[in-house]
Amino acid sequence: MILSKMLGNQGYHILEARCGLDAITIAKSRQPDLILLDILMPDVNGYEVCTTLKNEVATQNIPIVFISAVEEPNEKVEAFSVGGVDFINKPFQLVEVLARVETHLRLSSMQCQLIEQANLLKLQNISLQRELCNISGINPREYERISESFNRNEFKVFYQPIINLQSGLINGFEALIRWQHPQRGLVLPAEFIEIIETTDLIYAVGRWVINTACQQLRIWQSYYPHLENLTISVNVSTKQLLEFNLVNYVRETLNEYNIKPQCLKLEITESTVMGDRDITLQNLYQLKALGLKFCIDDFGTGYSSLRRLTDFPIDILKIDYSFIHNAEWLIVKAIATLAFSLGKEVVLEGIETNEQLELLKSLFPNSLAMVYGQGYLFARPLDAFAASIFLEQAKTIPDLEIA
Ligand SMILES: [Mg+2]
Repeated sequence: MILSKMLGNQGYHILEARCGLDAITIAKSRQPDLILLDILMPDVNGYEVCTTLKNEVATQNIPIVFISAVEEPNEKVEAFSVGGVDFINKPFQLVEVLARVETHLRLSSMQCQLIEQANLLKLQNISLQRELCNISGINPREYERISESFNRNEFKVFYQPIINLQSGLINGFEALIRWQHPQRGLVLPAEFIEIIETTDLIYAVGRWVINTACQQLRIWQSYYPHLENLTISVNVSTKQLLEFNLVNYVRETLNEYNIKPQCLKLEITESTVMGDRDITLQNLYQLKALGLKFCIDDFGTGYSSLRRLTDFPIDILKIDYSFIHNAEWLIVKAIATLAFSLGKEVVLEGIETNEQLELLKSLFPNSLAMVYGQGYLFARPLDAFAASIFLEQAKTIPDLEIA
């Protein structure tokens, strides 16, 4: 009563409630800017009132300041844990109550402005995205369909083993994205990756792949201590490498899952290394400084520039599957020889038969320790469970010879 009068004298319009239930009814119907709430009341207590209001959409953003004579620290902690923003002890000083009321009203007003601006930005982003879709010839409905599917967790990461050709042992996996469509089953990236890579989806999807792959690698390295150097290769696009916070994100992810940096390999394309954008190079070198390894994917099919092989911090060349598929052994040998002479390793993609494997091995008899293979002969891309079984089998036969 006294408080109402004092605040009323300061120009505030006051609504008074006689009990807890009364407070809930008034708050729902009148939606005040701020609530001063006692804890001890005749029917429901202040904590229950606060919990009820925080669970209602219409009242959840109203700041609630507890004002009570309770002295117990646990009672105060409870007030904050149910959603209160402040606690004022009785007996109170008017000047203190006024200062806190003004502060919380100001904060609340700023919060409302921020929410409005965020909603506005969201709308602007949607319309900008539609314009970008139109410019790049992408169907906006397709974009939305893929975006919604990603938000519904329909995308999965599959893992394809990479095998050392000298030892026949698994070196790591390449993480590959798939869409587990509820009606169509497993959809390959050819159907959706372009939309992801040419829109803002690449940032969220790209980070999700890095996170999922590192999380899975942590599970495997923990479960199979002898595979502490197992690696994971993640494909990253040119756009991702221009992302301002990419380096921090990768660093935090490695820390979160306790992954040794050299166990994470990033596969970039030839078009990425053809660009000379400052941010790309800066990010590449910062990631390299963390200890990551870089691999040029599908080497030999894009706009190859040999100069970039020494300008960029590349560790591995992944020779495109088409050379093996078309039996262009001389080209395979030439690229690999170049890689070895620059101190880089080689991954041969698309090995499907024992004949191909034997022939490839015969091309590099003295450098096999630096040559890795990937392809259906060893395994197709596997879901996490099947990849774990693959590792389990590799574990039980440590001298497994693939050929
Ligand atoms: Mg790749």
